Amino acid sequence: ATPTAIMVGTGLGAEHGILFKGGEHLERAHELQALVLDKTGTITRGEPRLTRVEALEGWTASDLLRVAASAERRSEHPLATAVVAHAQEEGLALSEPEGFEALPGRGVSAQVEGRRVLVGTRRLLEDEGAATGSLEELRLELEAAGQTAMLIAVDGHPAGLVAVADTVKPGAADAVAALREMGLEVWMLTGDNARTARAIAQQVGIDPDHVLAEVLPEQKADQVQALRDRGLKVGMVGDGINDAPALVAADLGIAIGTGTDVAIEAADVTLMRGELMGIVSAIRLSRQTIRKIR
Ligand code: ADP
Ligand code: MG
Repeated sequence: ATPTAIMVGTGLGAEHGILFKGGEHLERAHELQALVLDKTGTITRGEPRLTRVEALEGWTASDLLRVAASAERRSEHPLATAVVAHAQEEGLALSEPEGFEALPGRGVSAQVEGRRVLVGTRRLLEDEGAATGSLEELRLELEAAGQTAMLIAVDGHPAGLVAVADTVKPGAADAVAALREMGLEVWMLTGDNARTARAIAQQVGIDPDHVLAEVLPEQKADQVQALRDRGLKVGMVGDGINDAPALVAADLGIAIGTGTDVAIEAADVTLMRGELMGIVSAIRLSRQTIRKIR
């Protein structure tokens, strides 16, 4: 490898908002055979908006939203932000939660006005003994439409759900198509449920068999390693704190520059513009650089 070609390559990358931490990462990008894309904030904009509040008997929609938003108040998760923002737009007065606990990949738990509130996945509620049967039909319907349903239980009883929708980034489908044309396997990795994940995958042209969903934060790196164990050179693209171990586990970690500092620090390359087409450019640049070297 001539140092000049590498320097020219990293310089060209920087001009296009693709920051390689070192020349070796530029050299490695051309070897990639599979790319794993985080869903939220990478494929989608990562700005979920509330689409639905469904209150079960005994609750009004605004009481339910107020209680759920109060429980979510201390969470930094984008889903929590969506719930709190909507409650505030509705002019609801939120209470200060006590004993707040973030449950990574599952939801939150807190005491609100003396009552124990859970907001999160079906698995979270069922593990805590709150049967979600009466909400199942709606949940499945929302998920099939690509939305994320957050179930709510109060004092061990289901109380309703709130749902959010996040939209796919412009250019995401074109980037997936280009990557596949370049011969790469494209995968989606997410903590979100399988139905929502598959609906989003379909919108961007990722094969349903290449969707890894309901993966807990601590298991994301294992999923990347499992692909490497199949003999593939794997690139991982992510934006969140949760993605950092997976970025490190990959042959090439690629951070979305609009994401968290933790992800950027863990990655080998940062896409400053947050567009997935940047991955295509990074790999093309690497291939061109390597061709010049040989
Ligand atoms: P992602 O891979 O999209 O970043 P996470 O692993 O953070 O997802 O979360 C997985 C799932 O856990 C979410 O889709 C949601 O159902 C649930 N969840 C996580 N955090 C929260 C929260 N603060 N409130 C409600 N639900 C949550
Ligand atoms: Mg993300």
